[in-house]
Amino acid sequence: MKLDLLSLTHLELKEQIKGKGIAGYIADQLYHWLYRAYQIDPEKWTNISKANRDLLFESFSLHLPQVIWQGLSKDGTRKFLLKMQDGQTVEAVALPGRNRLSICLSSQVGCAVGCRFCHTGTQGLKRHLSTAEVVGQYVAVTHWLQTQVNSELKFSNIVYMGQGEPLHNFENVKKATEIFVEPKGIGLGQRRITLSTSGLVPQIKRLHEFPPINFAISLHSAHNDARTALMPINKVYNLEKLFQAIQTIPLKAHRRITYEYLLIDDFNDRPEDIIALAKLLKRSESKINIIPFNEYPGAIYKRPSDEKIAWFCHQLNDRGFTCTVRTTKGEDILAACGQLKSEYDKVNLWQEDQQLKVLSEKKKSQFSFT
Ligand code: SAH
Ligand code: SF4
Repeated sequence: MKLDLLSLTHLELKEQIKGKGIAGYIADQLYHWLYRAYQIDPEKWTNISKANRDLLFESFSLHLPQVIWQGLSKDGTRKFLLKMQDGQTVEAVALPGRNRLSICLSSQVGCAVGCRFCHTGTQGLKRHLSTAEVVGQYVAVTHWLQTQVNSELKFSNIVYMGQGEPLHNFENVKKATEIFVEPKGIGLGQRRITLSTSGLVPQIKRLHEFPPINFAISLHSAHNDARTALMPINKVYNLEKLFQAIQTIPLKAHRRITYEYLLIDDFNDRPEDIIALAKLLKRSESKINIIPFNEYPGAIYKRPSDEKIAWFCHQLNDRGFTCTVRTTKGEDILAACGQLKSEYDKVNLWQEDQQLKVLSEKKKSQFSFT
């Protein structure tokens, strides 16, 4: 099988093409076309001769996930349904913020962890994404936005918070991260990438093998019984084991671990939950990010009231914690956290599409991602 160009770090690409009799500097040019110009048509790689291109594609392939549907939320969030070569689909989401444009990437088709509150988790694991597919989501979505919305658009941040458990697909996500930070390519700053994990203990102990990006842990409860009820993984890796592993994460100066706390009405939003959290987490090394539960068709939990959400966060602030509430984005197109699911109902999607077409026409003139 041919190696995909999107699966190689700069050094690997250079070594590989040299091995095929192509000059090493062509790796710089390829990195430029793929990750700076987002030019995915090799015919347009004008400074690489036809002879070299032919030689290149004798040994390498370039497969980009295909955007088969995209929808624009009224808050500017855009969800992309991406089809892989074997027909499997995943979702990636573009999230505009005040000074940023983030992309939320998937790491797997489905997810094996099976959290009770997660739409992705309900479908089980279909397969891991390859390195080229993880990187390809970024390139395909950037290319789409640049050609369809604004040629200047570029992502400033990456979050691994789409479908799948990124640490279950450790090697491919690690390699994709190495590619994202390559100075000759996208050159994203390490602090601009965040990986969220449900708590795979053996892999957390290996996080020093990753570039030093930000890590977020899906905590959701400081009580073992409640956490197990939400996340079956807590049966295997309970809070004690999880926090032993977290101690091994190398933290650069002034960096902290983010603890995501999914706030569910009448479940983990009680005063004793605040007390347990305050006991469990170290103030100086932690940030708490409250994620109000996002409802989806068939969900068994409810989102707390806005007052309750604000109260919970203030209680933690009052106890000296840095605590923020994640604003829900893209809810109207099921693009918010936990709402992504690749097995989609074609009829629903079609209806959604029709509504969004109207919406995006209306918004086109005022829409920008800055
Ligand atoms: N698998 C990884 C990363 C993807 S999920 C993980 O679980 O950490 C990204 C975040 O969305 C996680 O914190 C997850 O717990 C949260 N999430 C999942 N379902 C949700 C829902 N229905 N509402 C709000 N957040 C949800
Ligand atoms: Fe998987 Fe994360 Fe969803 Fe849990 S929350 S099922 S780990 S994607």
